[in-house]
Amino acid sequence: MKEVWVYIEQEEGKIHPVSFELLGVAQRLASDLSGRVSALLLGYKVEDIIDEIFAYGAEKIYYLDHQVLSYYRHIPYVKGASELAKKYKPEIFLIGATPLGRDLAGGVATHLETGLTADVTELSIDSETGQLLMTRPAYGGNIMATIVCPHHRPQMATVRPRIFPVPERKSSIKGELIRESVELHEDEAKVKRLAFIPKEKAVNLEYAEVIVAGGKGIGSKDGFSLLAELAKELKGELGASRLAVEAHWIGYEHQVGQTGKTVRPKVYLAFGISGAIQHRAGMQNSDFIVAVNTDPEAPIFQIANLGIVGDWKKVAEALLFAIRKERSTDG
Ligand SMILES: Cc1cc2nc3c(=O)[nH]c(=O)nc-3n(C[C@H](O)[C@H](O)[C@H](O)COP(=O)(O)OP(=O)(O)OC[C@H]3O[C@@H](n4cnc5c(N)ncnc54)[C@H](O)[C@@H]3O)c2cc1C
Repeated sequence: MKEVWVYIEQEEGKIHPVSFELLGVAQRLASDLSGRVSALLLGYKVEDIIDEIFAYGAEKIYYLDHQVLSYYRHIPYVKGASELAKKYKPEIFLIGATPLGRDLAGGVATHLETGLTADVTELSIDSETGQLLMTRPAYGGNIMATIVCPHHRPQMATVRPRIFPVPERKSSIKGELIRESVELHEDEAKVKRLAFIPKEKAVNLEYAEVIVAGGKGIGSKDGFSLLAELAKELKGELGASRLAVEAHWIGYEHQVGQTGKTVRPKVYLAFGISGAIQHRAGMQNSDFIVAVNTDPEAPIFQIANLGIVGDWKKVAEALLFAIRKERSTDG
């Protein structure tokens, strides 16, 4: 039976959410191939997360448990994943396009002498050939390219976080656990982690529940100071359009869209953003979109759940005032 593999990225026994998203899309691909979804888990003493992986749709888990895998290192992780892929020959192998996932995927594809499509935003099965169609922006986002891997297996892709929804969790479902072993040695790893120092405040746009975003319409860099105050009150993150980033009003790590990040917050507030197709591509799956724009014809209003025609600054200030007033009355 053809297997669609999902690499389960975990750090300190905590699964990266993109792995759940991949388990969701893998179910669709496996069903189109009349195959099954299998998960590949590498780590050391991470049994606690196994039920969670079944609950999100894996029918089989290949689990490689080894002390050398207690934290991510390129050489042993690539060796472990490649050896198991050689043994079980998956048809498709999906990995999250995270910093660790990207590092792993290139090494595994090289070992397996197969192709790898990086940073994919769409996946489907060609109904005639049964091949995986992997689509991603190309040439700076000017075209969408669909890539196939006809002659080698597995068909490998790294997939951007937040492109696919997390599937429903079914805690009652259990599958088959296959414990595997691969010979790994500490001295092969070449690098040693001396300390783990998490970044104090990294921008976490992809998984933010609230995003306050600004575009060219906010007029200047100073505009982002007001939006940052609003984001702080709402416990959210700052987002931006490409034009705001290109104007150097805010860093690229805040850019939302086709050549920026894909987001799915509960609330997306768009101030002075026209809603160009490339911006919408990154935020149209937000649960609730509030748009503020002086132009009643701005395309952003076509997808907004709440549209306010008006000056962004007046609306942002009024909102900030109302939130603070409400909090002070509550407290
Ligand atoms: C290959 C390619 C990839 C791209 N990738 C991205 C991407 O990843 N992300 C992205 O965002 N864009 C991307 N773009 C650019 C995109 O096409 C748009 O140019 C960009 O999104 C527009 O940014 P904006 O909405 O801030 O600016 P504008 O389109 O200039 O819109 C500004 C808006 O502000 C409104 N406004 C003006 N004054 C006020 C005011 N006082 N109060 C309220 N509203 C006001 C205006 O009515 C207008 O609608 C890409 C383009 C290409 C060609």
